[in-house]
Amino acid sequence: MPPPAAGDADVAVVGAGVVGLATAWALARRGVRVLLLDRADGPGLGTSYANGAQLSYAYTDAMAGPALWRQLPAMLSGRDPAFRTRVSADPHFWGWGLRLLRNATAARQHRNTLDTLALALESKAALAALLARHPLDFQHRVAGKLHVYADAAARPKAEAMMAAKRPFGVRQQWLSPAEALAVEPALAGARGMAGAVYSPEEAAGDPWRFCTGLLALLQAEYGVQARFGVALHGLRREGTHWRLSADAPHGNSLRVRQVVLCAGIDSHALLRTLGLRSPLMAVKGYSFTAPCGALPPRASITDTARKLVFCRLGDRVRVAGLADLNDWDPAPAPARLQQLVALARASLPEAADYDRIAHRWAGLRPATPDSRPVIRRVGEGLVLNIGHGMLGWTLAMGSGERAAALLMEAA
Ligand SMILES: Cc1cc2nc3c(=O)[nH]c(=O)nc-3n(C[C@H](O)[C@H](O)[C@H](O)COP(=O)(O)OP(=O)(O)OC[C@H]3O[C@@H](n4cnc5c(N)ncnc54)[C@H](O)[C@@H]3O)c2cc1C
Repeated sequence: MPPPAAGDADVAVVGAGVVGLATAWALARRGVRVLLLDRADGPGLGTSYANGAQLSYAYTDAMAGPALWRQLPAMLSGRDPAFRTRVSADPHFWGWGLRLLRNATAARQHRNTLDTLALALESKAALAALLARHPLDFQHRVAGKLHVYADAAARPKAEAMMAAKRPFGVRQQWLSPAEALAVEPALAGARGMAGAVYSPEEAAGDPWRFCTGLLALLQAEYGVQARFGVALHGLRREGTHWRLSADAPHGNSLRVRQVVLCAGIDSHALLRTLGLRSPLMAVKGYSFTAPCGALPPRASITDTARKLVFCRLGDRVRVAGLADLNDWDPAPAPARLQQLVALARASLPEAADYDRIAHRWAGLRPATPDSRPVIRRVGEGLVLNIGHGMLGWTLAMGSGERAAALLMEAA
């Protein structure tokens, strides 16, 4: 059987999650002929599938900061139900962990947060531009967001972060419990609230619907080709082209001039086939989606103590949380899902109908030690667009623009 040709495509985009689709859009809009490849049966079925749905443009705070040192014993011992760490002898685990700790200073957290903020704001503008041209339906809403704190001692640090972001045009303010309740009546169910940071311009939307809608648009109006059920297991330079080896029903390799790697957490294995060190660590998280309860939120809500997010998607509420570091198995663990439901019930007992949960899910966040994605050219005709960690949905559109610009610059 002949190998599948890349057709007339100039660029293969590997991975059809939010990042791959945003990259395909940015390239196709520039007139590039794109071939999108994914091993799944359709778009958006990886970590993008049922994430927290938050377009968290203002809250880009890096995971590593001075507080990490305090949290470390609880993270390692499992005392904090939101965190688990699978300690392993693998040198990658220790190397990544050390790089995470090197980023746990106030100065680096500040830099990493503001760098990510710049990308988030580019993403916000890029999504607005896309929607102005093509109004896709993915339950997109500027819902606003409240970060709820149980301890008033958190206020000075939250105020300092808000002050650092203000020069970039980010609107946020500290609200007293009464003010927070006026903005979001669903917080009536929250016990022991000391205050909240309100970010009125934060948005939300269903990432899987976005992926399916954008793919349909790209195929219908921008000539993008897509092949699903194609699992790449290697990339190799062959003269002026890249050879992609794949397990696919219709053949096992194809040649293309340029590649953008957007394979989420699985980029880890693909980078190794190129002899490159992976910056990625799997941080597994969970979500469930349930019908609205008696007091569903209108805005998005983050419970900072329990590290949970609540997001309204039409007549449903999605709750996401938990961070299991170095867990590379995408299968949901029933005990962890139960823990997420218990944390959500304790946080906002009437937000969702917890007895009628419609969908339970787990996904692997592709995390980097500095919480910044890696958007970089690593060889002739090869660009990485990976490592979006906790914020890939938020950062996808801007990342796609940056990756496309890098590729075009090099062409
Ligand atoms: C519980 C949870 C909640 C989250 N909440 C939010 C949130 O509220 N807001 C936010 O901004 N972010 C959130 N995130 C993070 C966000 O979901 C991710 O950063 C984002 O989905 C990463 O997108 P991606 O396109 O890089 O990866 P993916 O969506 O995983 O896409 C990668 C694609 O590559 C394909 N692929 C992989 N390997 C191969 C291969 N070898 N060959 C061919 N195809 C391959 C996969 O099938 C997949 O479709 C959350 C994550 C989790 C787990």
